[in-house]
Amino acid sequence: MWIDSHCHLDFFPPPDIKMALQSAKISQVTHIIIPSVSPENIERVIAVANQDDALSYALGFHPMYIDQIKEADILRLSDCVKNSLPIAIGEIGIDLFVKNDNIQQQEYFFIAQLKLAIEYDLPVILHTRNAADIVLKHLRRHKVRGGIAHAFNGSLQQAHQFIDLGFKLGFGGAMTYPRAKHIQRLAKELPIEAIVLETDSPDMPPSWLEKNIQNQPKELDKIGLFLAQLRGLDPIKMANSIRENTLQVLPGLVKLCT
Ligand SMILES: [Zn+2]
Repeated sequence: MWIDSHCHLDFFPPPDIKMALQSAKISQVTHIIIPSVSPENIERVIAVANQDDALSYALGFHPMYIDQIKEADILRLSDCVKNSLPIAIGEIGIDLFVKNDNIQQQEYFFIAQLKLAIEYDLPVILHTRNAADIVLKHLRRHKVRGGIAHAFNGSLQQAHQFIDLGFKLGFGGAMTYPRAKHIQRLAKELPIEAIVLETDSPDMPPSWLEKNIQNQPKELDKIGLFLAQLRGLDPIKMANSIRENTLQVLPGLVKLCT
């Protein structure tokens, strides 16, 4: 029923991966998308995703790993994309929260990866922390076929600009905290057609998890129920529309999820 559109399952210790997958299925989380972040984890992501039909992957280099990236890595990424057919290019983007002295490098490799997405006609999974306007500027110049702005936390106006460019906005555990009024407002007011859900596990624990408990894809059903309550919607109907949104923006998933 639920699709976890963003989960770093390959970061879990190997014995935990099978368990996380099993408990996800019990909680009606029937599909999970694993984005890569760096040249080091591309192979691991593909290997983990190939373990089960409920898993798909995206390939790309995350802005927080950009200092390690060389031109040759982009060529290698292009080869991997050509040979393994990921469902998207990602996780790519710009992050000015953690570090901004390498902005030019971040932009350079972001553009290189947008060009790959155009070349292979793939959607992109975006990381846009404190950088929505810069990311939007590049999306206007390099017209990809849309995708997901993951863990969205920009303004309502920026959200609509992403939507106009063919993007869905990803919401997850961050909106479940009582103080997260801004994200809750976005999740409540944006058209339901624009929303997809994610756990970003093992990061971004929802509010109900104790500090020592690891976030897992199975939490997506409770995150979904939280959103249904926030919007006053029937959870099953809402789950169906969100599933449709995810399949629409990531067409490669349609074969795998039906
Ligand atoms: Zn991520």
